[in-house]
Amino acid sequence: MWDYGPLGVLLKKNIKDEWWKSNVELRTDVVGIDAAIMMNPIVWEKSGHLAEFSDFLVQCKVCKGRFRMDALNVEKYYDEKTKILKMPEKYDIDCPKGGHKFEFGSISEDDVKGLGIKPMKFNLLIPAFLGVLEDRQTKIYLRGEITQGAFVNFENVVSSTRVKIPFGIAQIGKAFRNEITPGNFTYRSLEFEQMEVEYFIKPEDSEGDKWFEYWKKQRMDWYISLGMDKDKLRFRKHAKDERAHYAKFAEDIEYKAPFGWSEFEGIHHRGDWDLSRHGLSYVDEEGNKFTPWVIESSGGVDRSALFFLLDAYHEEEKRVILKLHPKLAPYKVAVFPLLANKENLVSKARSIYQDLRKNMMVAWDDRGNIGKRYFAQDEIGTPFCITVDFQTLEDDTVTVRDRDTAKQDRIAIGKLNEYLQDKLK
Ligand code: ATP
Repeated sequence: MWDYGPLGVLLKKNIKDEWWKSNVELRTDVVGIDAAIMMNPIVWEKSGHLAEFSDFLVQCKVCKGRFRMDALNVEKYYDEKTKILKMPEKYDIDCPKGGHKFEFGSISEDDVKGLGIKPMKFNLLIPAFLGVLEDRQTKIYLRGEITQGAFVNFENVVSSTRVKIPFGIAQIGKAFRNEITPGNFTYRSLEFEQMEVEYFIKPEDSEGDKWFEYWKKQRMDWYISLGMDKDKLRFRKHAKDERAHYAKFAEDIEYKAPFGWSEFEGIHHRGDWDLSRHGLSYVDEEGNKFTPWVIESSGGVDRSALFFLLDAYHEEEKRVILKLHPKLAPYKVAVFPLLANKENLVSKARSIYQDLRKNMMVAWDDRGNIGKRYFAQDEIGTPFCITVDFQTLEDDTVTVRDRDTAKQDRIAIGKLNEYLQDKLK
């Protein structure tokens, strides 16, 4: 689990705001909801997560590390019927931990001596117990995906808004998974945030293909529009045996991270899996009753934040710059009085600071020399720095320095807001 500090929370908020603007505010066919984290456990039974949302766990005898069976590529030796993994006598697998060969060790009491290994089935849903009386508590689950909230609210949305198929339900919120191998910083964690659109369409192949391709493009373009390097992005098709239990077909958007190409959004064709399991349907204007299909785009807020950060990180000879898109930068501008001990400079800078804060996030810094203050802002991705100097006191102009080019403009204080708003667009 990870906590985000004052800058991290702003980065995440900006990502979520941009996502919401693009997927809800600028669209006439998508509405937003905010469903509960704790849901009736029947939802997870119907959605198939209680039975299917699991990984198989194996243990290495050498390092005692536990890994997902699919990380070792040995599923072909697993027998669904007997639930036994029977490896050939001689096998040659590198341990994912590195530095030695993998040797299958015993992980559970159930191990079948001489016959093989019984991988432990591990459900990813995290249980919680509701109720004040200990002996009458109900076992529930923290939601393993925010998705189900959109399905259980499907009829409420249809009957209370003017949406007509095709339409979408959008949501941003926390999800929880008992991951076996959390890691790569915030990439895989137990508590994380998702941003999703469930898009309901007519149950026809041509519609499915059309909207699947549409959402793939829509979502990829969004990351590129916010500055992510095209060459570090790609789609990856899920193989049949890799697809989630609900998916008709699926493709991931991947980023070329230092730890390899990694998924951070999935576009899934869920067919009618969820709505039919929940017993929900739709009646169109002609009175035809049917179960819509669903095309889902499911992105991770934390993984996006991580990849936006990695993508923006640049080192120059003398400075580190976070070239974040202005829309994502935690602070849009920083204001400095040239000298902290000159009251007239400080009060002038203070009034500019207070004024700009009405429209955007503004940082204040009056420590050390100006060069160091610029570098500190470059490092956190602030696109512009404003310096109030002695000339300001004479002609009411300030220096505005650009993060990426380090070029400086002289701008009248009265025009500052307009100048910045224009540049930040
Ligand atoms: P993975 O294969 O990496 O476990 P997944 O295919 O199970 O991911 P989905 O169920 O498709 O992931 O979830 C959609 C998105 O939610 C992912 O693309 C990712 O951005 C985010 N996500 C899923 N699991 C985690 C996690 N443990 N930590 C952080 N983000 C996650």
